[in-house]
Amino acid sequence: MIKQQTTAVVCGMALALGGTGAAANAPAKKPNILYIVADDMGYADCGVHGCKDVPTPNLDALAAGGIRFTDGYVTGTVCSPSRAALMTARYHYRDGVYDWIPAGKPGLNTDVPTVAGYLKKAGYRTAIVGKWHLGEQEQCHPLKRGFDEFYGFLGGGRSYFPDKPRAAGAKMNHYSQIVRGAAAVVEKEYTTHAFTREAVDFLARQKGSVQPFFLYLAFNAVHTPMEAPDDYLARFPGIGDKNRRIYAGMLAAMDDGIGRVLKAVREAGIEDNTLICFISDNGGPITRNAPNASLNTPLRGGKGETWEGGIRVPFFMQWKGRFQAGATFTQPVIQMDITATVLALAGVQADADWPIDGVNLLPFIEGNKSAPHATLCWEYEQQWAIREGQWKLTFAMPDQTAKTPVLGLYDLSNDISEAHDLSQAHPERVRQLQSAWTAWHKRVVGDKPGPEGKPKAANNAP
Ligand code: CA
Repeated sequence: MIKQQTTAVVCGMALALGGTGAAANAPAKKPNILYIVADDMGYADCGVHGCKDVPTPNLDALAAGGIRFTDGYVTGTVCSPSRAALMTARYHYRDGVYDWIPAGKPGLNTDVPTVAGYLKKAGYRTAIVGKWHLGEQEQCHPLKRGFDEFYGFLGGGRSYFPDKPRAAGAKMNHYSQIVRGAAAVVEKEYTTHAFTREAVDFLARQKGSVQPFFLYLAFNAVHTPMEAPDDYLARFPGIGDKNRRIYAGMLAAMDDGIGRVLKAVREAGIEDNTLICFISDNGGPITRNAPNASLNTPLRGGKGETWEGGIRVPFFMQWKGRFQAGATFTQPVIQMDITATVLALAGVQADADWPIDGVNLLPFIEGNKSAPHATLCWEYEQQWAIREGQWKLTFAMPDQTAKTPVLGLYDLSNDISEAHDLSQAHPERVRQLQSAWTAWHKRVVGDKPGPEGKPKAANNAP
């Protein structure tokens, strides 16, 4: 594929891409797809977003080698909803996932097609390494949901360090046990290193293969528990805050792992035909929802909230053979778009019974100056939000100790920190956005009861 040096300007920022004209959505050779997902990483925890105390050279290289989406969102403010929508390109409310999935509770609707299933049918080799968190029941297992290979754990969290030996005959803890396929294994490495190793191994096995692949590398880093290897802790003697220092070690281990994965892609000779997508599954948790000393500055709030800090995340896409390095895209996008884009690239039509909410981004990043979405909407517990252009209306907790949300209108074009509520000055816009959110809620969330019952916020418009 020959990269054309065409340049477009999107939202006043230079965006340069190599286009392939009419064949843009159906390249002769299907690209390999690599998703890399961090867990609970803050918006500000990478160098390209201003992180100063923890070097992230490999994440920065990934961003610099492709497109950085400044306004990249996730649908979920916590793990499972975000991962569900990444897998399906559908708002997670549609498929029974309203909150993180505890041990023993039902997971993602097993009837909804996943990106892995779609790509497998399209001829891809599919693999997941790391954290699943979309149901631990047998019918929810990744191998039943479109993946050919699985190495990782089914639940939402576990220690990074090796398990203690189980008593003879003890039942496997399906939530946290490391498995290969369905079989329990004794992992001896720090999990970030182990998942890197497995991803690198998978990539090495693809060298010379004519079959395209889809690899979903879902680190449990940098989610709690706060556990870093000693040699990584030793890199940060200057960080005084104990938890931030541990977090730095955990983040650096993940960044090193990403560097090894990017190197493996290069060494397999497939860099020019591999689309690499990186997100954090939700914003960094600040003082609740498993705080890990992450930073979202200058964004307000964090994980579990509909402030920008809960839903806007590091969001990069790199494709050396097609996307020109160093581009930025400033229109709002969301993680469902990654999967919609991938389906388009693979020539897959989503099942008409399971319509997708994600948008194929290729026409937009190749020069169409309009926004991929007229609006984006969120709901979590009592909170909700809608973004339309520069405006955001949100019903969110005023601070980390509050129990009751408040309504606020913010102009993100000059108030990224959501510090200046403009709802009193623009009552008509408040009404219009609230009406748009209500229409979205009726259309997408409706009254469908999920596994945990009706979402708490269903009747919660202020
Ligand atoms: Ca998470």
